[in-house]
Amino acid sequence: MINYIKKTYRGNKESFFKVLENNLVNNNKMFIVTANPETFMKADSISEFDKALMKPDTTIVPDGIGVVKAANYIGITEINERITGVDISYKLLELANKYSKSIYLLGASKDVIELTVKNINKEYPKVNILGYSDGYVDNKDDIFKRIKNISPDIVLVALGVPKQELLIAKHYDSFSKGIFVGVGGTFDVISGTKKRAPQIIQKLNIEWLYRIIGNKERIKRFYDSNVKFIFKLRKLAKEEK
Ligand code: UDP
Repeated sequence: MINYIKKTYRGNKESFFKVLENNLVNNNKMFIVTANPETFMKADSISEFDKALMKPDTTIVPDGIGVVKAANYIGITEINERITGVDISYKLLELANKYSKSIYLLGASKDVIELTVKNINKEYPKVNILGYSDGYVDNKDDIFKRIKNISPDIVLVALGVPKQELLIAKHYDSFSKGIFVGVGGTFDVISGTKKRAPQIIQKLNIEWLYRIIGNKERIKRFYDSNVKFIFKLRKLAKEEK
């Protein structure tokens, strides 16, 4: 658990976006995991997921405020703001539009992915969408084989944690280029199906609260991951001292 936090990208959003731009322009391969406490709790209990996170060429970024706070708690001060899957996706679309790069989109329901493609075509006309698929098809390995043949510059996978990361990790080594990101509920936002929390809520770092209010399943997920995460972190940090 502490290993994941120590491995998390140290810097702010602006500096990370420079890394993204540099890698996209130079065709450097990249695998980005946008992490929140739930990500780390799951990785702790699924060894394949743990391996994917700890691989040297996997970049973990702090998607959730819980990861920023946890880093600060163990004395890492360079991690000081969230870098979310939604932010990374919009940045990559902006950069792909600027440099006429290509993209493949996998995940979400059929309606959502189709609306996502439509909105990208409208807002980012120079982005070359090489293909897309909803996230409920059976054989996603076949889809990845197809993606490998068309070799896009960017691959966004929205299947939820850890499905999206495990799928990327399984195929990553067979690619020679591409920026791969597990982006969770991002297509729901790009498609306009779900709204992100208002700016003020994002600024106050309580977007998590906005997402769980009135959603029983998310409240349970919050307890199972975030609350247990805090206790576990405190225990491990004490043991390290
Ligand atoms: N999803 C999918 N296939 C699945 C399960 C989930 O395409 O088998 C999609 C789902 O439609 C949603 C996204 O994955 O668009 C995950 O959203 P969620 O908000 O649960 O992700 P989180 O960011 O919380 O991990």
